[in-house]
Amino acid sequence: MGNKQITVTSPLLPNLEEFQDLLKEIWSRKWITNNGSFHHKLEEALADYLKVPYVSLFTNGTLPLITALQALRITGEVITTPYSFVATTHALWWNGIKPVFVDIDPKTGNINPDCIEAAITPKTTAIMPVHVYGKPCDTERIQAIADKYGLKIIYDAAHAFGVEVSGESILNAGDMSTLSFHATKVYNTIEGGAMVMHDEKTKRRIDYLKNFGFAGETEVVAPGINSKLDEIRSAYGLLNLRQVDQAIEARHQVAVAYRNALRDVPGVTFFDDMPGVRHNYSYFPIFIDAEKYGMTRDELYFKMRDNNVLGRRYFYPLISEFTTYRGLPSSVPENLPNAHCMANSVICLPMHHALIDEDIKRVIEQIRK
Ligand SMILES: *Cc1c(COP(=O)(O)O)cnc(C)c1O
Repeated sequence: MGNKQITVTSPLLPNLEEFQDLLKEIWSRKWITNNGSFHHKLEEALADYLKVPYVSLFTNGTLPLITALQALRITGEVITTPYSFVATTHALWWNGIKPVFVDIDPKTGNINPDCIEAAITPKTTAIMPVHVYGKPCDTERIQAIADKYGLKIIYDAAHAFGVEVSGESILNAGDMSTLSFHATKVYNTIEGGAMVMHDEKTKRRIDYLKNFGFAGETEVVAPGINSKLDEIRSAYGLLNLRQVDQAIEARHQVAVAYRNALRDVPGVTFFDDMPGVRHNYSYFPIFIDAEKYGMTRDELYFKMRDNNVLGRRYFYPLISEFTTYRGLPSSVPENLPNAHCMANSVICLPMHHALIDEDIKRVIEQIRK
């Protein structure tokens, strides 16, 4: 018979009948992409929900990173973290920019501001941090460094949907922030993403850039790309926005259950909530100290898999270990000790809105042995 497979994530899906009603509207309008009515509504609704001034929708979460670098004319070297999803660094590579990796803070998994200044050279033009697992970076310290050296900041906020610090959106930090609405994320439009910016002029420029650079019927103002979100996924996104708070609260309850059950397990550590932060519970990483736990991370990971509990070694390997990047001077492991340590000990536990008590119990049993 075997146990039901518990997956690491499960997509938040809109109600099918409600989605069909919106599809009928699209069919009757016969306007299926290019800044349609649902696209417009979703941009407004997201700006409102996220408490940010301007949102520009994209067709995934990688293209806003690439486009932000283009819009800010970033060149040369950019300081970034190796502890992220590969898209962060790929966006630099696609722009002909040299990534410079610096180590992370083991307390958060985010780029360590203490390491940034030593990595700055005359070619440095920007910093690209990531709010890993939706935990806010030290945005004030990063901004102070950027101001001192005249650098831009682009936050890869793919994990940070709805995250707030003292009631303010984390997405308002830096020059721009980017989001991913991929199926695996807290909020999804199947594939999709967005850029958050502070002023109307930048919003207009980004809207041109994601539509080949078209500023009018016959005017192309820049070598743009095509990254428009269509009406069908915009409608889907409008419906999902209505239930995302409920989904985040369900994830919160899963996190509470995991923490209560795992706090006394020797060799297992995890993050607690940060004071004053509205978290989104996008991931639940645990870190295995093999000596204290009596089993290596990989042994536990494969044991869980054999028992149909699917975790994910997210982020392992580090971006700096992939063939494209491992030859870079900053990729040497001695430069990134904390990132290596975290990558070698992490397992993200199943975390989504649809986990039931029995699933949570089975996950916990795997780790408590
Ligand atoms: C998911 C993700 C991306 C890429 O988003 P896509 O929508 O899949 O293109 C970029 N950065 C990070 C940190 C991510 O987790």
